Amino acid sequence: MGIRVSEKHGVNPSCAKCFYCQKNTADLLLLGKLPGDAEAPREATYHMDPCDECKGYMKRGIILIEVKDEAEMDKVEDERRSWKNQYDHLEDRKKPFPGYFIPNPYREGGWWVVSEDFVKRALTPELAEYLLKTRWCFVPKDASTAIGLRDEKGPICLDDSGESSEEQPEVSGESAS
Ligand SMILES: [Zn+2]
Repeated sequence: MGIRVSEKHGVNPSCAKCFYCQKNTADLLLLGKLPGDAEAPREATYHMDPCDECKGYMKRGIILIEVKDEAEMDKVEDERRSWKNQYDHLEDRKKPFPGYFIPNPYREGGWWVVSEDFVKRALTPELAEYLLKTRWCFVPKDASTAIGLRDEKGPICLDDSGESSEEQPEVSGESAS
């Protein structure tokens, strides 16, 4: 598949930011001629593949990304629903890139990696089970405050005793209680 080069912006490069940590990755996209011959953003989130660092975090624990509040979470759900209604019935190649919805709530700045044991201890069993599969989730500020994350500095892993540890976090094995 070739790209159409823009006379104004050439191959129109854009750096892919990691969805999770928002850092630039080595992934450089050549967007070529965009609708309206627009200049590509210098950097943006184009997909939900974790960068190598976040991939490592997800192996060791669960990434929690703080967002403003519940209303922001609801907004994301509304957007997800509307995306589904608009595009889900289309063939994959007709869906806007990357073919799935990328949530973009207002982030409050908190960012943590917690152990599986922490998740099991701090959250309801249903939520914990879900997170052990997805390996990440958004947390409204109220909730991150309530479970004590706000006092920690991220990214960290909480070990089995609830103490912060940059070393080897407990991600499997004995239960906390
Ligand atoms: Zn990342």
